[in-house]
Amino acid sequence: MQIKQEIHCPNCGSKAQRKYCFKTNISNTQCPACDYLMINCFRTGKVLEAYAPGLYSHR
Ligand SMILES: [Zn+2]
Repeated sequence: MQIKQEIHCPNCGSKAQRKYCFKTNISNTQCPACDYLMINCFRTGKVLEAYAPGLYSHR
């Protein structure tokens, strides 16, 4: 079972989408505006994959 949720991108603030997969306990956040990507296990909070283009180039 999968649930889709509209959220605001933590990277750029645009509309992004978060998907929850309850079979694997993995949530997947994707922002089409800035290519932000976050895949994590929402049960343990462990981040499996994260990609935020703006965050790294701003440093
Ligand atoms: Zn974004």
